[in-house]
Amino acid sequence: MRTSNWILTAALLVSISAAAQQATDSQTSAQPSAPTAAELATAPPQQAAPAPAPQPPAQSDAAQASQPAATAPAAPSAPPAGQLAPPAPVAAPATMDQVVNLFIEREHGLIKALSNRTPVVETYLQNLAADPQLGAVPSEDHYFLGRLDMGETVDRKDYLKEEDKTMQSRLLGGFQKLYKVQYQPMGFSWMVYADRTDFDREHYDFRYVRREFLGEVRCLVFDVTPKPKSGHGRFLGRLWVEDQGFNIVRLNGTYYPAPRNSYFFHMDSWRLNLIPGYWVPAFIYSEEGDFSAGVKNRMAFKAQTRIWGYDLKKGGKDDELTNIRVDSVTDESPAQQDASPLQAERVWQQQAEDNVVERLTSAGLLAPEGDVDRILQTVVNNLEVTNNIDLPRPVRTRVLLTAPLETFSVGNTIVISRGLIDVLPDEASLAAVLSHELAHIVLGHNLGSKYAFNDRMLFSDDATYQNLGFKHIPEEETAADKKAIELLKNSPYAQKLDNVGLFLKALQARAPSLGALLTTHLGNPLAENGTVNRLTALATQGPALDNNKLDQIAALPLGGRIKINPWDDKAEMVKTAPVAITSARDKMPFEVTPFFPRLARFGANAAQPAAPTTAANTNAGN
Ligand SMILES: [Zn+2]
Repeated sequence: MRTSNWILTAALLVSISAAAQQATDSQTSAQPSAPTAAELATAPPQQAAPAPAPQPPAQSDAAQASQPAATAPAAPSAPPAGQLAPPAPVAAPATMDQVVNLFIEREHGLIKALSNRTPVVETYLQNLAADPQLGAVPSEDHYFLGRLDMGETVDRKDYLKEEDKTMQSRLLGGFQKLYKVQYQPMGFSWMVYADRTDFDREHYDFRYVRREFLGEVRCLVFDVTPKPKSGHGRFLGRLWVEDQGFNIVRLNGTYYPAPRNSYFFHMDSWRLNLIPGYWVPAFIYSEEGDFSAGVKNRMAFKAQTRIWGYDLKKGGKDDELTNIRVDSVTDESPAQQDASPLQAERVWQQQAEDNVVERLTSAGLLAPEGDVDRILQTVVNNLEVTNNIDLPRPVRTRVLLTAPLETFSVGNTIVISRGLIDVLPDEASLAAVLSHELAHIVLGHNLGSKYAFNDRMLFSDDATYQNLGFKHIPEEETAADKKAIELLKNSPYAQKLDNVGLFLKALQARAPSLGALLTTHLGNPLAENGTVNRLTALATQGPALDNNKLDQIAALPLGGRIKINPWDDKAEMVKTAPVAITSARDKMPFEVTPFFPRLARFGANAAQPAAPTTAANTNAGN
């Protein structure tokens, strides 16, 4: 599994040097720690992480008593299945030195607690070019999706396979002019921890800076510098530590020093308190580039890395033996006879649909049914009612958790990606992309009945895209677009199709440089070879795209609408107050931006602090 080839590509370097170079460099550090290739290969097993034992009480008990010291405030006796046992409470520290000891210990505790987890990890990267009017705009993009093995070394396994390319060439960026740069997906995931192996006082100096609130959470801020001669690739930057359990909640910085001819990214890494006592890595933003006058190195990119699916269950707790309700086993259908041929066909299709939805959910690609679906279903319902559509089974919707813009349908379930919901400017545009899939359903373009055979669900998660696919033939695509426009024109959205036209124009304007965002993995693409091919009849509708009109919002940046709970994958609508746009550069259609989640403690403001979903609510950026 961890072949040297893979480890090579898993290093955190933008490197023009070969492995030999890195191997040489790593010799110089006695205690290998950081993510150069050879170092990863020789990294010693995780030292026994100190058990989070209770600290001896601090000197001034009375003075500190008012400070809530327990890390597991609201936790009930035993955590539900799949959850981690919260760490033992810590006594309130009296000095900053003690605080440093505590968060070092908590970091090792987190590394140990997550070591058997393999969450989904997605990196979406946009290379940037300077535009006189819009500033830095995407010139091309890259997409990586995989599973993160948080064991001994942090490792990453890809979902995406491109047959004819080697791993090396697949990761090549587009800067051959100055550097032959490699984007190594692992690099974007490394900052889940400050230092996987040597996060301690022997390797680092810690300097307290100040107190600061991140969202609702009061933090102690520390600057961290590697000690001289402590080896290559040590963390250099700033840490935010929450002041109750002394967990690190944010890391911001880079690694230092870099081996010769290599370069480490800058990163901003955020954690969320989704389970009692632990703050789990959730978002990492990376950015490089400088467009100021006279800068020769034009290498510039920005990238979002998201981690979710920490608690993927095969089956889930509803399937636990104790929860099986025997009384529901009997078939209570009124017609106590065999299904008619048409009924059988429908049941068969539903079986396929259920299989696919369940499989995609367990692979960490589909959010469980939730609040977002209620909004999507309302829009679908608006289309159905005004068009007198009466289907034998209700249309369901689900959110695909990934960034690439895509929709597909299987049976009566319409799936729409998080990235696509994010960038749609309004409800009419949402209705338009949903109407295409509803049209497939209405026209009976059923795909995927072969998935009613359960053997076809038996594949490893990272082979999902090789085993499932819902692409229609061109004739069905054309027919669905035609029908979709008919549905829209009868719907409450008929008067707002100008907005849809505007969105399609904005998509067309960026399509040539956003190939990866527009590469679908399960359904038909919205654009191919840089040309939008979805709902083209609407593309000429509406006003011309005009960057100078500040009130014309044709498409939104990524990440503004949907928030995923990285622990249980639940999707929430983000409620953010609108921010006034003051220049064309503020529009950022289809672009990635830094993360700034509003941090909250687990269970804060929640009626039922034991349920992880409530943490998602409070973390949903209200
Ligand atoms: Zn289609």
